[in-house]
Formats: sequence, C-alpha cells, structure tokens
Amino acid sequence: MTELTLRKNIIRTALEMNAVGVNRGTSGNVSTRFKNGFLITPSGLAYDKTKPADIVFVDNKGKPTGRYAPSSEWRFHHDIYLNRQDVEAIVHTHSSFATTLSCLHKSVPAFHYMVAVCGGSDIRCAPYATFGTQALSDHAVKALRDRKACLLANHGMICVGTTLENTLKLAVETEALCEQYWRALQIGKPKILSKKEMNVVLKKFQTYGQAKKRS
Ligand code: 13P
Ligand code: ZN
Repeated sequence: MTELTLRKNIIRTALEMNAVGVNRGTSGNVSTRFKNGFLITPSGLAYDKTKPADIVFVDNKGKPTGRYAPSSEWRFHHDIYLNRQDVEAIVHTHSSFATTLSCLHKSVPAFHYMVAVCGGSDIRCAPYATFGTQALSDHAVKALRDRKACLLANHGMICVGTTLENTLKLAVETEALCEQYWRALQIGKPKILSKKEMNVVLKKFQTYGQAKKRS
C-alpha cells in the first residue's frame, strides 16, 4: 500500500469509529505501522477536518515529522509497535461501555466465549495513569501481553490488529462485549467459562470462518 493510501485509510478509520458510535469528537486515535515507525492521527484535530498530509509520521526513536503534533498517545503506539511484531495497526477509543467498566477498574472475564477474539480468556484493564504519559504506555503494553485488546482505567480501550479494518472491527466487538458484560452485571452474577473451555474456543478460532479456501 502506498503512503497516501495508508494516510487516507487512517482518516477513514477515525471517521468510522465515530460514525459507528465507538468514539466521539477528537477523543481516541488511530495509527498504522509504516517504514521504520508509524503514521498516526494528529492531536486534537477533528477527523472530518483532517487531510492526508496532516497525518504525522513518528519514527522508531519517537521523532515526529509533520505540520501537526502527533496524538498525545504516540508513546503507547510507539511502544506497542516496538514490543509487538505481530501488530500493524492500533485503534484507541473512548467507547461508552468499555470506559464505564474501566472506571470501575474491571477486567472483562470469560463471561462469553467471544472474549476469545481479544486473544485470551479475559480483556485486562490496565491501571490508571495520566493520558499521554510513559506510565500509561507501560501499563498498556503489559495489559496487551498475549492479547489484542485491553481497557485503560478511567479512560477507554486499545485494540491492535494486522490491518486498520480488522482493528476497528475488533474495537466494535470489544465494545459489544463490554456492553453485554455490563448488562449481565445489572441482573446478576455472570457465570464465567472455565480456562479449559476458553482454550477449546481459542483453538477453534484458529480455523473459524473462511480462513482456509475450500477446493
Ligand atoms: P489525541 O487527540 O492527542 O490523540 O488525544 C485523544 C485521546 O484519546 C487521549 O487519550
Ligand atoms: Zn484516550
């Protein structure tokens, strides 16, 4: 993909995360790996006013290039790309149900088998740290270990993936799981699936859907 296409895709993903209701305003941020660093949304710029040339490049030493400052959360994007060679795209949102659970510092347990789409038997909630800090980045990297999603206490969520498209889809799915867990908590104590069952589900997910073409 060309650099221009990636820049356009970042803007499209940011617009879509607001359009589908998993984020609002200039909250959240979107990035994709590029060359020796990554391309990321500028800080505090309305997504519908953002042009491809406004997307900021940040190299693997944390040096930005562009007419605007990069997202205030460039540190966790930077650290995730350094720590996770499997990650090509990152979506951070302040979606309502994920944020609600994060305000209670609640991780999402295996209340539903679909929790496995986030990579394991739970979706961890990283401890609170001020937005944009190295401390928040350290917490996020740890909470994402062996996972594709995590909550950030009193803040929101992060999803990681191999394309901008599948990362946004995962953010939508993560938000749905947070809503379902929240709803279940309103009327009782959800029954949690065992580690053993979640391992079965995780294994089944490796071959789920149309991953392999039938001949
Ligand atoms: P930016 O506009 O700087 O990306 O900040 C939004 C945000 O979500 C901070 O956590
Ligand atoms: Zn945020």
